[in-house]
Amino acid sequence: MPALTFSPAVRSLKPSATLAAAAKAKELKSKGVNVLDFTLGEPDFNTPEHIRKAAWNAMEAGHTHYTPSGGIMELKQAVCRLYQRDYGLTYKPSQVLISNGAKHSIHNIIAALCGPGDEVIIPTPYWVSYGALVELTGATVVLVDTTEASGFILSAEQLERAITPRTKLLLLNNPSNPTGAAYTPAQLEALAKVAVKHNLLVLSDEIYEKLIYTGSQFRSFASFGPEVAALTILVSGVSKAYAMTGWRIGWTIGPVELIKAMDNLQSQETSNPCSISQYAALAALDGPQDSVEEMRVEFEERRNYVMDRMRPWRQKYGVTFAEPGGAFYAFFNVAALFGKPLAGGVTVSNATDFCTALLEKNHVALVTGDAFGAPGYVRLSFATSLDILQAGLGAIEDFMSGK
Ligand code: PMP
Ligand code: GLU
Repeated sequence: MPALTFSPAVRSLKPSATLAAAAKAKELKSKGVNVLDFTLGEPDFNTPEHIRKAAWNAMEAGHTHYTPSGGIMELKQAVCRLYQRDYGLTYKPSQVLISNGAKHSIHNIIAALCGPGDEVIIPTPYWVSYGALVELTGATVVLVDTTEASGFILSAEQLERAITPRTKLLLLNNPSNPTGAAYTPAQLEALAKVAVKHNLLVLSDEIYEKLIYTGSQFRSFASFGPEVAALTILVSGVSKAYAMTGWRIGWTIGPVELIKAMDNLQSQETSNPCSISQYAALAALDGPQDSVEEMRVEFEERRNYVMDRMRPWRQKYGVTFAEPGGAFYAFFNVAALFGKPLAGGVTVSNATDFCTALLEKNHVALVTGDAFGAPGYVRLSFATSLDILQAGLGAIEDFMSGK
């Protein structure tokens, strides 16, 4: 076999750190180790029954063939109804593209818009795939650091300072993975004003829009008037709100010309998203919404439990964090523990080593903040049962106190 040489884009590509951390935890589990796994951001609930039934019915009805590459019209119409119903936003189906999960939507948007010479602004901490997907196109990532003190919120001033004549896109994630930060309407409006002033396109990843906790409020970035809506490319999907990660359905809502360009790309790349999943997503959007709220309430209970357990860590271990207003992640800074003896006397000097030692010694799997552009931090996904959270937080505390 000839020596394999890879394209420059793929040569520098790293695997998704979240998926890699989950795979590492699974590997250890397969060796019989009882790993307490908080790596993946995916609801632990089963997909609601009426959605599963709709998938079965779709197969029985013969919806097992290719669909239009950009998705079935019924689902595009259902997405339009959803935004009208929930946010009072009016869209036409020609502004909607259905893709193989929101990750694929984001990839398609960036691939359709960006190339060498373009700059894409990404606030840190950022979701692991953002930077990689921008770099794949040859465009330049411009990171803007947000701080724990500001609740990991990008300010209008920071955004304005980062804009150059080469800026193509702002990548905004609200509520945020990995920080759980939920922007207030006023904070979003301030960013929207800057976007309008500079005619800046904003990719607003709102995949956690339905997972908002008491005290926080969700507003879609597109809801600040027609000028803002015209610059906004919305991304969301069924993975988080309906516990449908495996079905792989996400969507983009944006200008008709962009949707057309992305559809061309998708028709060459993947053809349509799974036909059966599209009918299941249709049932999710049009069917009863009670399960969305039921799951949100459970996530809020878990969030409150995690925060109650973690607050004393500030005093005891010097761990710092901002409390999440949405999504299902606790993101905390463990730098105060670097150089100090942890379980078994081990010492670490960065968050990646902290996670490795925690997994090896106390069998708890977290994701390092290094993967999110946030050195010193670690991410815990609380999309798991209270029992496992209880055991896991105890084991993390043991690790930090040297047990
Ligand atoms: N955006 C963010 C911020 C995420 O955390 C994820 C991970 N699920 C996605 C997009 C992609 O979701 P999916 O591809 O499952 O729709
Ligand atoms: N978005 C989830 C996470 O951050 C799932 C993993 C992934 O898609 O990378 O854990």
